[in-house]
Amino acid sequence: MHFLAIGECMAELAPSSSAGQFSLGYAGDTFNTAWYLRKLCPAGTVSYFTAVGTDSVSAQMLGTMADAGIDTRHIVRIPGASVGLYLIVLKDGERSFSYWRDTSAARRLAEDETRLATAMEAADVIYFSGITLAIIGAAGRATLLAALRAARAKGKTIAFDPNLRLRLWPGAEEMTAAIMQGAGVSDIVLPSYEDEASFFKDADTEATADRYLQAGAKTVVVKNGPAAVHYRHGAEVGAVAIAPVSDVVDTTAAGDSFNAAFLAGLERGRSLPDCIAVASQVAGLVIRGKGALVPLDLAGIAL
Ligand code: ADP
Repeated sequence: MHFLAIGECMAELAPSSSAGQFSLGYAGDTFNTAWYLRKLCPAGTVSYFTAVGTDSVSAQMLGTMADAGIDTRHIVRIPGASVGLYLIVLKDGERSFSYWRDTSAARRLAEDETRLATAMEAADVIYFSGITLAIIGAAGRATLLAALRAARAKGKTIAFDPNLRLRLWPGAEEMTAAIMQGAGVSDIVLPSYEDEASFFKDADTEATADRYLQAGAKTVVVKNGPAAVHYRHGAEVGAVAIAPVSDVVDTTAAGDSFNAAFLAGLERGRSLPDCIAVASQVAGLVIRGKGALVPLDLAGIAL
């Protein structure tokens, strides 16, 4: 399999063990999914598509991706631009996030239509998110959605996590309209119920699945924190219970890692309930660790 994720990876400054010190890392929703897929699918190719600058931090980010085994050859480099940054502050055990991403190179990832098409051409499965759609603006969205539509028509599988983040959008109406367009070019939609209920007023997980099936998706998997995952695939309907995790350390990337393990399961030809069961086991490990990219001990998981 050749898997391609499209979106924004940012520099991350996270508090280190000594007070006032921060450590530099790299993370972002679609990148996290690519990183977990790399661990879960050692045999395939995992590519990331974004835009970065030509400065040192951009070069370091690309180096870190390559060291993780992620193919960076399609990534656009924009002279004079740089990557987005976020800072994690810990106060009384609670994490808060501040972002500097308004002028990041990734906002321009859809400007180079040829590179985008070339990256998609090489892929079998293409993954993007509502955050990808949010950061690239209306013109970028038109380009990206057209490219995804064309890729789908050529038989590529398109997977989408709506990842609703209102603060990245001019308003809720623009966000929900664009998310439905994203679902409209996708085969697989992987929403989280809590977000969907607040912005689409879905009464239950079934309503979320219905809405995305009506938009054109073939498979919808509705995550719901520690509650059961509801799925639909044509006439196939079901729910998979989650083993609740009592020692949660940090829920960052729960959904991102779930999506990676789910797609890895599909790639192995597993049934939908099996893919969901494995995905929730992987997400369950990720939320027991600190940060977005948690080293996984997969020994107890039947991948
Ligand atoms: P997101 O990170 O996108 O908000 P969710 O909170 O819905 O996503 O969680 C994604 C997945 O992570 C869930 O489907 C589940 O498998 C796992 N998960 C999240 N919270 C818990 C929890 N408290 N216990 C066990 N699994 C959890």
